[in-house]
Amino acid sequence: MTLRPLDLAPGHCLIGGRWGPPEAGETLDLINPSDGSTLCAVAAGTAADIDRAVAAAEAALEGPWGRATAAERGRVLARCGALVLEHADHLAELEALDVGKPLTQARADVTALARYMEFYAGAADKVHGATIPYLDGYTVYTLRERQGVTGHIVPWNYPMQIIGRSVGAALAMGNACVLKPAEEACLTALAFAELMRSAGLPDGALNVVPGRGADAGAALSGHGRVQHISFTGSVATGRLVQQAAAQNVVPVTLELGGKSPQLVFDDADIDAALPFLVNAGIQNAGQTCSAASRILVQRGVYDRVVSAMAARYAALTVGPALSDPNVGPLISQRQRGIVEGYLEKGADLEVAARAEMPGDLPENGAWVAPTLFAGVPAGHVLAQEEIFGPVQVIIPFDDEAEALSIANDTGYGLVASVWTRDGARQMRLARALRAGQVFLNNYGAGGGVELPFGGTGLSGHGREKGFEALFGFSSLKTVAALHG
Ligand code: NAD
Repeated sequence: MTLRPLDLAPGHCLIGGRWGPPEAGETLDLINPSDGSTLCAVAAGTAADIDRAVAAAEAALEGPWGRATAAERGRVLARCGALVLEHADHLAELEALDVGKPLTQARADVTALARYMEFYAGAADKVHGATIPYLDGYTVYTLRERQGVTGHIVPWNYPMQIIGRSVGAALAMGNACVLKPAEEACLTALAFAELMRSAGLPDGALNVVPGRGADAGAALSGHGRVQHISFTGSVATGRLVQQAAAQNVVPVTLELGGKSPQLVFDDADIDAALPFLVNAGIQNAGQTCSAASRILVQRGVYDRVVSAMAARYAALTVGPALSDPNVGPLISQRQRGIVEGYLEKGADLEVAARAEMPGDLPENGAWVAPTLFAGVPAGHVLAQEEIFGPVQVIIPFDDEAEALSIANDTGYGLVASVWTRDGARQMRLARALRAGQVFLNNYGAGGGVELPFGGTGLSGHGREKGFEALFGFSSLKTVAALHG
């Protein structure tokens, strides 16, 4: 099988098992963020294409896909997982070119995509209902049923991982999907759809319509025959998606990013913490929903942590994605403008370190120097808002109560971590931190296929990953039989 989305389907959507141009015939240029060159043209789908894709998904539910047993669905996902691994190098290269993601990090995303397929393949036939003790003469049980057509609006920062966790779970539950990848990066979405076809997924069970958010995205989130919208992206767009879905009274899963803290106490194993403190901030050039963008450090180890993190920043390599540096470019010049705007707002702050930028970086790449600020007041805009770039702030604290209050004092609540040897403190903070995931003496920046993931507050609602996602993409029916 050949898998070359760069020439496989230029400007095409996948609808009902067929690649074809969008109805309006328009395309968007995909830009390589490492040098500003044009990679290829992709479809600029519109409401008409979304409508066709929803109809194709409905038809798939009436056909072989709708009749497939849970075990058969699992087999398709398992085959797809194997194909993902078979094409790992190619997928990683596509993601590196499209997202500007350093190759090693792109390879990790390929592995995660394969793991999602494996996990949901194995889970597909293990979603049980329950029997419920009730009144005398009754038998009551629950059925977990598919929802129907599910819509998946995906951002550009982790296309493979986010497709894996949302489309993988939805298909395992027997739904049929319409996927709208981001206009900035959609090559691996197209490649994934092709791999799914090769794995034996029936026509229409997965449809892909690339296009602009305001056109294809809005049409999908407001479509009257879509039964669930899964969205990952910005808070502003998340609000629009939820409003659109509310008109049809359908559930939404929103994953909207964060301002996640790592809390480092005086008694922590600092050497063990250091790689996590820095990597969780600069991975994917900081364009990670669960980036650890706030580092809260107790005063007894404050100077040591600042200087050790600064030394790591000084050693970071920056460069084009295919040269596999520690930090690649941002996704676009637009995103670079957003991050530079924040750096200007931090002009009053102490810069603890700024990574060195090589002199030979391609001129039109979206470069921003990874920057570490220290001594940052907890209320400063750089300590409050999601920057989505390679920028971290270090905030000092005196005691546990102050650390908790700072940690919980943004509108977000996605991920947090605590570095301490004090077991009682670990348990107290794990409960008290406002976050969907808490890590004790480690930090999983978005990792963990098996681990339910999602936020609270501005970080969104609903859970993806793990078994929890299967519940999210199903409806629970209660059957009560009176038999005497
Ligand atoms: P965005 O939220 O606008 O885009 C995410 C996805 O939503 C894309 O597929 C886009 O096409 C789609 N979309 C856009 N407008 C839509 C609409 N009206 N209806 C339905 N779908 C729509 O994000 P962005 O503009 O690419 O980035 C802006 C900021 O969002 C970033 O600076 C970052 O802070 C945040 N962001 C967060 C995540 C995350 O993982 N949580 C991912 C990407 C961006």
